[in-house]
Amino acid sequence: MPQISSTCPYCGVGCGVEVSIVENSDLKSQSPLVLGEKNHPANFGRLCSKGSALAETLFDVEGGRRLTHPSVDNKNVTWSEATKTVAKKIAESIQKHGKDSVAFYLSGQLLTEDYYVANKLMKGFIGTANVDTNSRLCMSSAVAGYKRAFGSDSVPCCYEDLELADLIVLVGSNAAWTHPVLYQRMVAAKETNSDLRVVLIDPRKTASNDLADLHLPLAPSSDGFLYQGLLGYLIEHKAIDQDYIDKYTDGFEQAEMQAKTLSIDTVLQKTQLQEDVLLTFYSWFAETTKTVSFYSQGINQSATGTDKCNAIINCHLATGKIGYPGAGPFSITGQPNAMGGREVGGLANQLAAHMDFAPDDVDRVKRFWQSPKIATQPGLKAVELFDAIDSGKIKVLWIMATNPAVSLPNSNKVREALSKYETVIVSDVTNTDTTQYADILLPALAWSEKDGTVTNSERRISRQRSFCDGPGSAKADWWVLTQVAKELGHGKHFQYFSPRDVFVEHAQLSEFENNGARDFDISGLSQLSAQEYDNLLPIQWPVNNQNPRGTARLFEDGRFFTPNKRAQFVSLIPKLADCFEHEFVLNTGRLRDQWHTMTRTGEAPSLAGHDDVPTVQIHPLDAKNLELSHNAFAELSNDLGRFIAQVDVTNAVTQGQLYSPIHWTDQFASDGVVSKVVSPEVDPISGQPESKASAVSVKGFECSQWAKIVSREPISKVQWGYWVESKIHQGYVTLVGCSDLVDWQEWLRDHCSEPADQIRYLNPIAQSEAFIASSAEQVETLVLIEQRVENLPSLIWLEDAFDSPIKDIKTLLRGEMAERDTLICGCFRTSRKKIMTAIQTGSNTQKLLANSLGCGSKCGSCRPELNQLLLDAKSIEANI
Ligand code: SF4
Repeated sequence: MPQISSTCPYCGVGCGVEVSIVENSDLKSQSPLVLGEKNHPANFGRLCSKGSALAETLFDVEGGRRLTHPSVDNKNVTWSEATKTVAKKIAESIQKHGKDSVAFYLSGQLLTEDYYVANKLMKGFIGTANVDTNSRLCMSSAVAGYKRAFGSDSVPCCYEDLELADLIVLVGSNAAWTHPVLYQRMVAAKETNSDLRVVLIDPRKTASNDLADLHLPLAPSSDGFLYQGLLGYLIEHKAIDQDYIDKYTDGFEQAEMQAKTLSIDTVLQKTQLQEDVLLTFYSWFAETTKTVSFYSQGINQSATGTDKCNAIINCHLATGKIGYPGAGPFSITGQPNAMGGREVGGLANQLAAHMDFAPDDVDRVKRFWQSPKIATQPGLKAVELFDAIDSGKIKVLWIMATNPAVSLPNSNKVREALSKYETVIVSDVTNTDTTQYADILLPALAWSEKDGTVTNSERRISRQRSFCDGPGSAKADWWVLTQVAKELGHGKHFQYFSPRDVFVEHAQLSEFENNGARDFDISGLSQLSAQEYDNLLPIQWPVNNQNPRGTARLFEDGRFFTPNKRAQFVSLIPKLADCFEHEFVLNTGRLRDQWHTMTRTGEAPSLAGHDDVPTVQIHPLDAKNLELSHNAFAELSNDLGRFIAQVDVTNAVTQGQLYSPIHWTDQFASDGVVSKVVSPEVDPISGQPESKASAVSVKGFECSQWAKIVSREPISKVQWGYWVESKIHQGYVTLVGCSDLVDWQEWLRDHCSEPADQIRYLNPIAQSEAFIASSAEQVETLVLIEQRVENLPSLIWLEDAFDSPIKDIKTLLRGEMAERDTLICGCFRTSRKKIMTAIQTGSNTQKLLANSLGCGSKCGSCRPELNQLLLDAKSIEANI
């Protein structure tokens, strides 16, 4: 059985996977088996729920939403015609409106090789820096923070530091869901290191609370005050490392002066924390030498995100907690190749190989690329880019591997801008909300088909390897870009015949006139042969003469990449987000089992059961005031748009706070795009949008009737006032909200392409109605109807019912269908109800649950929820 090592395509942990193609028992077909790669240093064999379900997203490449052929104006064309048309549109726009009328919008899902060619073509040969990336939305504040402090975009730590630390501060990170394998490494570290303490800093209670010794439920957006207060506390309590400050840093006095103006009382008032909780955190930070601050989107996605990053870094510099094992300010990227994008200069304010637009850098890159007209100044950042489109400055936009119609804030405005274009080119794998605006659609290779490298959050470059062919005539993005470059007359500078050719040039640029001046140096990989590239093992940059086997952590010698080699303190004035005077402030984030805009995870049935509809978390008192019950629906709106979600009444948020996931798109739901109500305010330094605080109004969303329809094929959505579709193993479950009463018998007749037997069933107790349409062999469609959406059964119940014989379905319908159940463990398909029953019958530890039901024993993503259920069961028992 051949095995291929590759890298998971989802988050910035960058787990290694091992793919085996196994013959099925019918001997006519094959299935992939995807397991964690035991030797990969990011995960040592672990995978989370998303990585574990990768095999479900493969081999169905010709169906559904997948793009298979290039098209221009909705007509299939050859690649030659497509690339000629792209080049012509770009050339015409440059001639009529100048080079800045063209823009690229790239993605942290691209491989480094694709990213490198796109950036080189745009900045080096079209001559504009109007090329930005969706990584702007993910970690551009972290980049800006590192650059201000270290003079370079250098992540100082490595994953091993999480195991060596005695204090891990999770700030703005629900790692249990967003970076699950790193979270599991922390859980394992805590089991072996009794000194390790974990602090969670998050306005919400999240799954990561399970690991925390201390939770700081601070007021949203107040992290800047918290860390500025920490710096003042460290100074006051003589917990700073004056020797380190004197030897290796500049700017401490100004930062100190500023920190001293902030009293603890003001910190308490702004953060709304209890004094003992605040001071416990401060004293732990002060007294623990090996401290890692682990931060992510909760810090970065803020109108003051860069300052927040520097507030954290200031505390590490002041105490010298950096540059040795188990310590440092560790920014974790969201996307699989956000770091690769940073290396090649995918952001509009970077050039390439960690150089920017300083005249020396521009000159150096120009000479290396032999570029005729290199960009000399930064281009427009993501939100500005789409504003420029709106005002008509950009005429041609090429979007690759991203879905800005969903992911950018103020999505309605982005969509309007996209519709105004002269030319929109989209390279992608599937149809998305963005592809509907494309004049030219270019089918790209997906994970499993494409070949190249990615870099994870600890600077580790890993190979993503191809192990199956793409559908139709889908092509690698680097190849398509090369063809367009040739059509534009730059062919001799784009002589690439494989991803390896691109990679070695990228490595050579990192080496070019570097001599230790730049952190990004992979000169040790600049001469890789095709075979060496194929066999490349995961390695952390810098990789050079001094460190031929890579470098685990940076700044061990206290030398930074600023002109005088000293780290810089940044003097800060913390600020709260402006919207907090409003009654409701919406925070957004990720779910455990979905990824970005669901283009891949939305196709995996075992990932659908955990959260199958867009939701909004709301505090019980707010829900009561608004007369919203748990599992009812609510409409969130503001001047920008509206978003509809199922209400989750919970103490996880405080009064006035709301929280919704980012994943749903028009492909999976009506009115499920949360970015339609997300404010487009950005950080003035990094340009990263404030995705964590938008003022909204909330009211109930009612329909005359609600139904859940289980069908073998997707149903038509046109007639429903509201709908959400989920993929299950046997087909689809669609929740529909109807504005008018529906004649369901007629609907079923229209819906079933073949005549089918129909049964109408009225539940005598609940007065709910159901229809079953069946062929001789099986149930074809099942419809359950309720006046109150809260009474409809859960996806996992429906999935089980759909496979049952008709007589059993009727029995089931008489039973407990109204009781809502949730999938907790995707690996063993274990629901909350099953787990609670097992706990009540004696399986009252994680180990016993694993023995009796299997749950929690494979990928481990559900373990925080299992612990919560065990606690819930204990408190129920105590109250009996
Ligand atoms: Fe993939 Fe999960 Fe690993 Fe992230 S943590 S890389 S999603 S397996």
